[in-house]
Amino acid sequence: MAGTSEDHVVVIGSSIAGLLSAAAMSPYYSKVILVDNDTFGGEGTVRKATPQGHHVHGLLSSGWTALQKLLPGVELRLKQMGAEWVHFGKEFRWHHFGKFKANFEDLMEGPFMSRTCLEEAVRAEVTALGNVEFLSDAVVGFIGDSFEISGVRLASGKELNAARVVDASGRASRCPQWLEEIGGKVPRVQTLAAGLRYSSCRFKVAADHGTEKWKALFVIPKPPETMSGAVFPQEDGNWLVTLAGRKKDTMPTNQEEFLEYAKQLGCPDVYEAIKDAEPLSALAHYRFKESRRYFYEKSSMPKNLLAIGDSVCSFNPIFGQGMTVCILEALKMSELIERGECASQSYFKSISGIVSHAWEMITVEDMRYPELHSQRSLKIKLMQQLTQRVYEKTSEDGELNKMLYEVIHFKRPATDLCKPWALFRLL
Ligand SMILES: Cc1cc2nc3c(=O)[nH]c(=O)nc-3n(C[C@H](O)[C@H](O)[C@H](O)COP(=O)(O)OP(=O)(O)OC[C@H]3O[C@@H](n4cnc5c(N)ncnc54)[C@H](O)[C@@H]3O)c2cc1C
Repeated sequence: MAGTSEDHVVVIGSSIAGLLSAAAMSPYYSKVILVDNDTFGGEGTVRKATPQGHHVHGLLSSGWTALQKLLPGVELRLKQMGAEWVHFGKEFRWHHFGKFKANFEDLMEGPFMSRTCLEEAVRAEVTALGNVEFLSDAVVGFIGDSFEISGVRLASGKELNAARVVDASGRASRCPQWLEEIGGKVPRVQTLAAGLRYSSCRFKVAADHGTEKWKALFVIPKPPETMSGAVFPQEDGNWLVTLAGRKKDTMPTNQEEFLEYAKQLGCPDVYEAIKDAEPLSALAHYRFKESRRYFYEKSSMPKNLLAIGDSVCSFNPIFGQGMTVCILEALKMSELIERGECASQSYFKSISGIVSHAWEMITVEDMRYPELHSQRSLKIKLMQQLTQRVYEKTSEDGELNKMLYEVIHFKRPATDLCKPWALFRLL
């Protein structure tokens, strides 16, 4: 190929979703240019534009499988960086709705590490592709019209021409405004109140902690309780501990309050794990007001403009789905390009099922809190009753628990929980 802008792709944002878009596009274009205005290069440090990186990030098993398809070298790289492999059925100890889940044998596993570590591993793999260029600048608008985009305008005053543009600029995406500026249609947006608060701290793994107990620990309360917690292993051999609450909870501001908060969770295990462990960082905080979804699939988009990751939909992180959604969307992008069918309309239609799967699950969970959502449809009420029964039964039925994991991990549709096999086990 000649390497003109006709066969270049511009990706806005070079975080997880942007990097994975580059991986998807790289085999089919002479050059992929990733534009990002954040500061990179502080190895292992959380970037300013991704403050969520201070808090635990789990990668779901379907996300892990898809990531290896996009970037086959990533497993070795993560192993070299120190990621810890966790078997979800046996080593991921999950206290949910007042009880611990039953174990299951079937292999469902994935690497645990910080979000920064995962992003750095993906960045290294994408850099090695050879035709991906990183540009430090901010995109400030599109060039083109509602039918087709010919490039982007940059804060530096330059313009970049491109055959295709991908918006991967995250939750703060200005894609809807930029579309409006070129005469395009602004997509419908839906928000869902979450009112979440997070506080996190890194700890040295307690000397008496044997991994036979668990490698990762996760506590999610039964509503109306709101306080949750997670202890996840990190690539440096330490723990990252995140405590979460909703609006009414007073989050810790120092180590003493952190331990006090951990003590109040629905089971003592988080507190027991960290009570004598050495803290290795100051507390980091994050507020997640609401989930937000743009319905690009129902809008009319310029034919060569795609969007991915949090810029399309940013979810309440309760089930740890955000990065997995980015990866599954990138894999879909890659499959459609290979088939020559990656016009925006078909792309957005084909990723809408991935987004809906996660969106529906968090809707059921967030709507259990009447202080956040006073109105619930009959469908939501029925789903809440069914899933509550599933959550309770999965503490004693390992096979049912496996099915629940498969739903959460995007391996099955949620409707499988209504099939006779599952319903019979709920009796
Ligand atoms: C507290 C918390 C916990 C979470 N836990 C999990 C979890 O356990 N598992 C999970 O899978 N997900 C989790 N998530 C969600 C996950 O962090 C996101 O889904 C994921 O990071 C989104 O990646 P992204 O690439 O779409 O966006 P981002 O990572 O937000 O990146 C956007 C990038 O775009 C750049 N950018 C923005 N505007 C411009 C512009 N105009 N020009 C150029 N560049 C621009 C930014 O600098 C940034 O680098 C959690 C989120 C939170 C808040």
